[in-house]
Amino acid sequence: MAYKEKTCPKCGTIHYKRGEFCSRSCGNTRKHTEHTKQKIAVRQTERHANGDDIAEEQRLALAIANERHHDPVPPQQYSRLGMNQFVDDGDLWTEV
Ligand SMILES: [Zn+2]
Repeated sequence: MAYKEKTCPKCGTIHYKRGEFCSRSCGNTRKHTEHTKQKIAVRQTERHANGDDIAEEQRLALAIANERHHDPVPPQQYSRLGMNQFVDDGDLWTEV
């Protein structure tokens, strides 16, 4: 690897990746100060109260993420037809 050996400040894993963290989930653990948190909260409240485009985008992204979470689509599975089965018009038929 091109990068020098580093220890992830979050989990302590030794890695050779770019940046100081070993993974995206470790990198996402940045701590904001109370002052910064307050500023983010105030701005976010304004956005949601006024219904601006960014707030709408965030609401939509969250809705889509929740949709994915609540309504998972099972992976398609293929199975062999039985000796007495056939497919016609997209339906599976069984001859008796
Ligand atoms: Zn880590």
